[in-house]
Amino acid sequence: MSKPTPDVYEQGKGMDAHNKVMREIRSRKEASYDPHEPTRVWLDEDNTPDGVKTSLTIILNTGGCRWARAGGCTMCGYVAESVDGGSVSHEALMDQIDVCLEHEAENGDEPAELIKIYTSGSFLDEREVGAESRRAIADTFADRDRMVVESLPDFADREKIADFTQHGLDTDVAIGLETATDRVRHDCVNKYFDFADFEDACAEAAAADDAAGDDAEAGIKAYLLMKPPFLTESEAVADMISSIERCADVDGCHTVSMNPCNVQRYTMVDELYFNDGYRPPWLWSVAHVLEQTADVDAIVVSDPVGHGSDRGPHNCGECDDLVQKAIKDFDLRQDPSVFEQVSCECELTWETVLERERSFNQPLTR
Ligand code: SF4
Ligand SMILES: [Zn+2]
Repeated sequence: MSKPTPDVYEQGKGMDAHNKVMREIRSRKEASYDPHEPTRVWLDEDNTPDGVKTSLTIILNTGGCRWARAGGCTMCGYVAESVDGGSVSHEALMDQIDVCLEHEAENGDEPAELIKIYTSGSFLDEREVGAESRRAIADTFADRDRMVVESLPDFADREKIADFTQHGLDTDVAIGLETATDRVRHDCVNKYFDFADFEDACAEAAAADDAAGDDAEAGIKAYLLMKPPFLTESEAVADMISSIERCADVDGCHTVSMNPCNVQRYTMVDELYFNDGYRPPWLWSVAHVLEQTADVDAIVVSDPVGHGSDRGPHNCGECDDLVQKAIKDFDLRQDPSVFEQVSCECELTWETVLERERSFNQPLTR
């Protein structure tokens, strides 16, 4: 894993310090998991460049993210769900896929059109998922329409993407970019790569798309993090609007999924939250960003996890379900007028937070 250069991040400052704290926090976890069972699997619906499709989402248990073992991102608790020892065999990975297929057969009417695979790390990192398993998984889902696989940008190359597109599967690589602003990604999220690496991955996807001709499409789905720690509400909103605009301008990136930060256990965000130093974003902020970026040249969606709870994105408690519903409507229809129909007295509080919250007094409200 790339080590931050000393001239940028002095010992004891910046990334080194974040990693040290995160390692200490993560070491408190005690859970361990069965390598033959996926972390989670569920059925849903998703907006894709080809319209709304039924989806099967799989969180594979692959031994977890290497960056997380170095310390990792300030908001990410996923490593707490990965297996001990750090690697999962081909047979165990295929057992996990079997469990997912059984879940789908029991709970869905017919096979899902879209398959999404996340790994709490990088599906395209061969130390997590070897080439044999990657190809076997591509074969398993060859009869579906579309695949999404999660990866850090370093591992997204045209040959690996071609393992899927050669079956005629439209293929998206989901990249946890978090923000287009390098300073925020490095210092607030503690993620090591640069926007330029994301642009390189988009170019790889564009090349895979060209190589696949008319048989299949390949592209990038950028995942952004709304309100990492240390940003005020208004800074977070401004950062998201510019990030969505910058991602949509990159050739090869067709979808942006903007996800509000929630407070996960065994993270720095959790420590800050516990000490009254962090509030997840307002749902009004999420709606505002979606409204402001509705005309960019990409699909923009958001799926606020844990909405309405203290540890998730929330408003006043009265209007959370309504705003969440409008956000989900927007995801499927991309029509900003859905937000005109929701209002609440707490909008005034939110506007005041945007105006008055500063780094030294945040969070201004709970
Ligand atoms: S957010 Fe991704 S890169 Fe960061 S620690 Fe979690 S799994 Fe690893
Ligand atoms: Zn309200």
